[in-house]
Amino acid sequence: MKILVSNDDGIYARGLWALVRALKGVGEVIVVAPDREQSAVGTSVTLHYPLRVKKAKPRLSGVEAYSVEGTPADSVILGLQMLAKDGVDLVVSGINEGLNLGNDVFISGTVGAALQGYFYEIPAIAISAALVKNKVRFDTAARMAALLAKKVEQKDLLPGTLLNVNLPHLPLRKIQGIQATRLGRRSYRDDIKKGNDGRRDYYWIVRSEPERGEEKGTDIWAVRHDKISITMLRGNLANSSQMSHLESLCSSLFAELGYAGSKFRGSRFTVRSH
Ligand code: MN
Repeated sequence: MKILVSNDDGIYARGLWALVRALKGVGEVIVVAPDREQSAVGTSVTLHYPLRVKKAKPRLSGVEAYSVEGTPADSVILGLQMLAKDGVDLVVSGINEGLNLGNDVFISGTVGAALQGYFYEIPAIAISAALVKNKVRFDTAARMAALLAKKVEQKDLLPGTLLNVNLPHLPLRKIQGIQATRLGRRSYRDDIKKGNDGRRDYYWIVRSEPERGEEKGTDIWAVRHDKISITMLRGNLANSSQMSHLESLCSSLFAELGYAGSKFRGSRFTVRSH
């Protein structure tokens, strides 16, 4: 089994090599990762600049490693299309230094890398561990990744699977279980700090800690209750009641669109303001 490993903390991040060490026992590992930290770049793909790729010195022998002057998603695309010659059976991204929960998954570079695997219809796993007082426990997260990789090998996890795994900051003996979760609603309060660099004003987005009080069954709730959270992500994010609401909205929107069209019939190229 061939496993492509990437991350958003950069190719020499400790979490990445803890992950590689564990996955080496399951399959052949190729590392393709950004040459520097790229946290919070999300799914960003570089289309306006050329990308440079360098063969990197692996921290473990027997592993092929490449650093990319680009985003996590760029790294996975290059890995899948060009660097992993005989195809890839699994994409694993992480181990991120810090949780990626709730709304965070939409800006997470760790998830952004895994998402490319999903787009290529390869099973993909994003894995993150809590960062507490600048410390991260990688050991259990690495073991989890290896276990899940074995499940992929045994066809227990199929293409189309995109898992977001988060671990609390606890030794294994204190972890209370593994919970299948849905995304919580964690969002930050964005404070804008204004400054001046001597020439121009600038604005700095500073994220404050999210509020507490999460519903049971969410990823945030699980980690807060000392459990490992596994969320299955998918391209279609709406649930069935949201979908039927959108359907009824669409039909009324179409009626309104028709009404506006008839109002301006004969003057398609002028926009009138009243
Ligand atoms: Mn990160």
